[in-house]
Amino acid sequence: MKAAVWHGYKDIRIEDVPEPEVKPGHVKIKVAWAGICGTDRHEYVGPNFIPTKRPHRLTGRTAPLIMGHEFSGIITEVGEGVTGWKVDDRVTANGTLSCGECPMCLAGRDNICYKLGFLGVSTDGAFAEYVIVNQKRLFKIPDNVGLKEAVLCEPLACGKHALDLMNLDIRDKTVVVSGDGIIGISAAIACLQAGAKNLIVSGIGTSKKEFIEGLGARYVNVAEEDLVDVVSDITESAMAHIAFECVGVEASLHNVIKATRPGAAVMIMGVFEKPPVFPMNDFQEGEKVLYTSQAHLYEIGDCLELMSQGKYPYIHKMITGVVDLENIVEGGFEEMNRHPNDHIKMLVRIAGDEID
Ligand SMILES: [Zn+2]
Ligand SMILES: [Zn+2]
Repeated sequence: MKAAVWHGYKDIRIEDVPEPEVKPGHVKIKVAWAGICGTDRHEYVGPNFIPTKRPHRLTGRTAPLIMGHEFSGIITEVGEGVTGWKVDDRVTANGTLSCGECPMCLAGRDNICYKLGFLGVSTDGAFAEYVIVNQKRLFKIPDNVGLKEAVLCEPLACGKHALDLMNLDIRDKTVVVSGDGIIGISAAIACLQAGAKNLIVSGIGTSKKEFIEGLGARYVNVAEEDLVDVVSDITESAMAHIAFECVGVEASLHNVIKATRPGAAVMIMGVFEKPPVFPMNDFQEGEKVLYTSQAHLYEIGDCLELMSQGKYPYIHKMITGVVDLENIVEGGFEEMNRHPNDHIKMLVRIAGDEID
């Protein structure tokens, strides 16, 4: 079968590899669509999480391996001991790999397993014609949800998980989201659905302004406006109750802290390539609370349900590009590097419309 195999920094090759074999407790899925995620882009341009020297602590794998963790498809084979799933089921999955034995797994928090791994990072993933997935990670796609749209539930689940983790009532609250990439957008959507009153989303450039304003948020282009000033104006100096950092750079971190009021909650979702200077005093003076969030647990299921109910009427607008697997490097990774601000979600067509 054809697969996009990661060999190293800026070295992803389309190769013919043997079809994977189903294992006990797992299913084999024919992949229809896959999404290129921010983490995939990091793997391409570095620094990477795909193990190159020491084998992964859970899977024992090192590069080369097949990338991709956001996908949809249909089951073509079920392994021994699989219950509740059958051939032809339309599915998507949580790409988390966990040990099932550590204190976090036992507490139901597989997303922070001591030996945490991911499909497409720690073992072969979904940028391929077939992928093998543990039955406990599967989600059934409702009949009225397209295989194409269903891929978006993985990134949407990240925002929902982060919001749920804080366990705050955000109705009528002012919320700031720094970052207009897919993670910032997923946080913004989760907040709007939970009833946030004033939602302010910042980013660079204007290509996503229309989409974000269409959601019902105020868009701040940080190249032209100061986020902290805007929040101050909107709230008559009271500032925001909650803020999400979804960029992973120091200036954005400082902005979200300055944009919040005493007692506020600040959620970190960005992946920092460089460790930021942390403005401790701004934080401590207001007894602000810092939260962090990693991937998601069951929230893909919630998002599929919401999608089925028509709660994401704008979902097709989030798909800003489609590329065939053969062209994933030039038309996918390189395109996203050239125009990082133009894309929300780039999809990879594998079996695509054939099995939709
Ligand atoms: Zn992802
Ligand atoms: Zn574990």
